[in-house]
Order: sequence, then C-alpha cells, then structure tokens
Amino acid sequence: SGPLLKVENLTKHYPIGAGFLKKTTPVVRAVEDVSFSVEAGETLCIVGESGCGKSTVARLLMRLVDPTGGRVMIDGTDIAGLKKHELRAYRRLMQMVFQDPYSSLNPRLTAGQIITEPVENYERLSRKQREALAADLLHKVGMSPEMMHRLPSELSGGQRQRLGIARALALKPSIIIADEAVSALDVSVQAQILNLLMDLQQQLRIAFVFISHDLAVVEHLGHRVAVMYLGRIVELATCEALFAKPVHPYTEALIAAAPVPDPTGVRFEAPVAGEVPSPINPPSGCTFHPRCPLAVERCRIEVPPLVPMTDGRVVACHVRAPASGMQAQSAAARD
Ligand code: SF4
Ligand code: MG
Repeated sequence: SGPLLKVENLTKHYPIGAGFLKKTTPVVRAVEDVSFSVEAGETLCIVGESGCGKSTVARLLMRLVDPTGGRVMIDGTDIAGLKKHELRAYRRLMQMVFQDPYSSLNPRLTAGQIITEPVENYERLSRKQREALAADLLHKVGMSPEMMHRLPSELSGGQRQRLGIARALALKPSIIIADEAVSALDVSVQAQILNLLMDLQQQLRIAFVFISHDLAVVEHLGHRVAVMYLGRIVELATCEALFAKPVHPYTEALIAAAPVPDPTGVRFEAPVAGEVPSPINPPSGCTFHPRCPLAVERCRIEVPPLVPMTDGRVVACHVRAPASGMQAQSAAARD
C-alpha cells in the first residue's frame, strides 16, 4: 500500500513582470524537480534558508497553488486530477499549521469556535456537540476546557499555536503540513510545542511535513530531512545520518553555521558565506557553485543529479556524489 504522500518531480515557476509581451517570460524558479515520499506516522523535515522554495512546496502540497509540473499523490491518488468536490475530501486528510498563529486565527471568534470551525464546514453541530468537540481538542493540545471561551488576544503565543494545532487536528488528518510552525515562539515555548507535536504523532500516527529554517528544530524532531537550495533538494537523509555526516557541501555549511544552543536563550544566526542567489536568474549548473568551496569546472555547466548513496541518502553533488562512481559501484554489486 505505497507511501501516504508521494511527490514526483514537483516544479513551480512563477511568471514575473510584463514578460507576456516578449517571447520568453521571465520566471521565478521557486521549486525545481522536487521528489520525496512520506509514510504514515513519519516526519519529513524540509530545511533551507529563506527563499529556497520551502513554503512554495507547502502551498503545492495543499494545492493552494497549481504546479507547473510534477505530481502530488495522496494515498495513491494524484490530487491534480481531482474535481473541486473530490479535492474537498482529500483536503480533510491534509491540514496545515502556520507560522504566525495570531494572523491565522480570526480575532473575533472564541477559541472554541476557531477549533471546531473546520468540522462545521462539513457537518452541523449542536451547541452541546460543539462544546464537547472543543473540550476534546483542547485536551489533546494540553489546554483546559475553559479556554474555549477566550479570544485569541487573551491567549499567549504558545497557547495560540496550540489552538492552531487543535484546529488542524479537528478533521482527524493523516498529514499535517507545518510551515515554520514554531519560528515565532520563544525557545522554551518552541520545545513545548515540538514535544506536543511528537506526542500527537505517537498517539494519532499523524505524518508531518515540517518546514523550517532552523536546524535545531529539525534535529529535535528527527526522522528524515530534505535540504533545499534554490528550489531543489540537494540532500535527503535520515536526521541521524545528516547531522553525523553531512555529505552535500551546502548541508555541511548549514550545519557548521548553525548557532550553538545558548543557555541565555538568545539566538543568532550565522549565515552560510555569501548571499543566496536570485531564483529569477539562478546560476548555471549546480546553483550552489558561486558559494561552494569544492566547485570544479563541471559544476558551472551540469546540474548534478540526485545520486543514491550506500547508506540510503541521496545527494546532488558532482564532487561528493559523482553519478559515474555510483554506477560503477552498482555494476560491481551485480558481478
Ligand atoms: Fe559544490 Fe560542485 Fe558539489 Fe555543487 S556540484 S555542491 S558546486 S562541488
Ligand atoms: Mg517561508
């Protein structure tokens, strides 16, 4: 019964400016040829600097935008082929938790109304049913039932993100897409929310696609990690393997630049040397070559393919994961 979520060659180009008057329309290459799969109850983290296409992947998964190419399959069904009413049924399976709980919660609704609203979009609830559902959802996210009468403005940042999670749980999804879901919170609150997500995953066997720029968060969540750079996955590995031994030079630089946890709770970000180039006119060949200390001539010319390594990870790098080397290896294995 295949993976719960399967993404194949997903691509999103946004046309920009008045390009339609010209022969070639300039495009932002937000997502290029991204493939991955997620099993039931698993977490896949997607990590990279801002502007690498992570949020566009989230929007493509939710089909809030249509892809330029490629497929998103849930439980074996390609969601691009679905009619509106069919898509509605699939949307129940996949819910989203956003970065800023404050701006994503209606300030005029009570906590109870906010978290039961997704269910009421599908079925009518009596007041009694609504209150029972609200109490149950609040309990799941570690809040007391009295909180259902509060407005978002009467809650802390951490409580608001718990509400965002409760609302995502209301329809009993199989997958939750979390886009920078803890980035706006204090470090101590972040840890509480991450632990809540991991508990919920264990109890309810929910799969997560967890999008973050923060390696500390990704390491905390574990499972597998896809590293994105300028719209492409450059390395995909188990969390353990990635942090123990990054193979792609970009992964290595990201991990080396990650701040050491600071006991004062003050965090800073030491960026990877050099700027992220524009996705409008990305560098040729391997788009990381202008920032890469290992770049060779070939890197400026050819896009490196994702090559499977013997430990199960995939890496796109001419130097660290040469395609020919791996072919030789598999040929040897056949003999
Ligand atoms: Fe660096 Fe070349 Fe590997 Fe790209 S392909 S990461 S430029 S060595
Ligand atoms: Mg983003």
